[in-house]
Amino acid sequence: MEVIKAPRGTRDVLGDESWKWTHVLDVCRRTADDFGYSEVLLPIFEHTELFSRGIGDTTDVVEKEMYTFTDRGNRSITLRPELTASMVRSYLEHDMRRLPQPVKLWSAGPMFRYERPQKGRYRQFWQIDFEILGVPSPMADLETIDTSMEIYRRLGLSNLQVLINSVGCPKCRPVYREALKSFIASSPGGVRGLCETCRDRFDRNPLRILDCKIPECKDLTRSAPAMIDSLCDECREHFDGVGRGLDRIGADVRLDNRLVRGLDYYTKTAYEILAGELGSQNAVCGGGRYDNLAEAIGGPHVPGVGFASGIERIVITLEGQGVYPGKAPETDVCIVTASDDAIMEACALAHELRMSGLAVGSDYTGRGMKAQMKQAASAGARFVCILGGDEIASGVVGVKNMKNGEQVSVPRSGTAAKIALWREEMVE
Ligand code: AMP
Repeated sequence: MEVIKAPRGTRDVLGDESWKWTHVLDVCRRTADDFGYSEVLLPIFEHTELFSRGIGDTTDVVEKEMYTFTDRGNRSITLRPELTASMVRSYLEHDMRRLPQPVKLWSAGPMFRYERPQKGRYRQFWQIDFEILGVPSPMADLETIDTSMEIYRRLGLSNLQVLINSVGCPKCRPVYREALKSFIASSPGGVRGLCETCRDRFDRNPLRILDCKIPECKDLTRSAPAMIDSLCDECREHFDGVGRGLDRIGADVRLDNRLVRGLDYYTKTAYEILAGELGSQNAVCGGGRYDNLAEAIGGPHVPGVGFASGIERIVITLEGQGVYPGKAPETDVCIVTASDDAIMEACALAHELRMSGLAVGSDYTGRGMKAQMKQAASAGARFVCILGGDEIASGVVGVKNMKNGEQVSVPRSGTAAKIALWREEMVE
């Protein structure tokens, strides 16, 4: 029988990587505190309708990528493919309109999309998500971009490229849609020059054609009209406001006329942050404004703006840039037993050492001392405690300093306090 493996597109994040995730989440948590976002823990599954109405029926996410099933109560349930719709649902459900606005929320956790797996693209992936709800000001847009850049800065990342665009609003977007459609229809290749997916998008969701990576589609839309030239006065003013704010904080941001994003709820500002280390899946962050999302899911008008960033992609970028932030877990002490009858005493000693705040590795295999010492060295232990029949009989513990190789015998009763002191001196 074949051994069962993890499903395609999922992965185990093992110990040599998971501490980096913990560090990313720690930095997010501290940045959230400093910017005044409060954390919300959201359900991993929601009613399917939340996403079909919120994200949009004609998006790739809703049409092709959702993990949807009928539960035993005959409800259509979907594993969340993103967090913004859930955040807005939670805001409405808990009537956060009665709180002083803006309401700033953040969350993190696994998302699920049935995508073609490749480097940086998985079927289960983690996102951090930051949202500012309840204010239409372009300064909120600016603050979300600033939040994401601050997280990356604190993590030690550099050379990130921020791209920005405006996707307009229900007033001006239809004008642009028509301008784009007539440009494509009257180009030499016409609609038939597009790839099959984009031919389908032409009537249903033509803006997504700008996002297509197929060379023919890219060529065909190279000199297409730009959305920002079709913006209504309100969207124009908003876009200029974000631009002025970005200048004011010295952010290095580039206008990208092709940036439309894959989720329908965006209005006005859309942005993406790219990292060269990611290869073809180069977006480390995606965000923007979604002033009509609350209404789309049955609520009142609530303006909102925010971003999501993939933790796998953050970690790939950290590794690609040779930045190892935070610290791998360290081992202060390993206990080596010289005889089987010392194993129980080793457990008691490990307990005492841990109570003194030390990180202790244990080995209950009863194998030879040499192998145990080797294991302690490879764990990077600062000290090794040696316990055998002789030590137990005379009430002492052998303590080896792994840095200078010195070994001394210390009274059993004071071992934990002594090592805690030595460790402090060593780390200083
Ligand atoms: P989106 O929700 O599509 O706007 O994506 C926001 C961010 O989530 C992206 O910039 C990526 O960092 C990350 N992301 C999206 N889809 C995936 C995926 N399938 N695998 C890994 N990360 C992803």
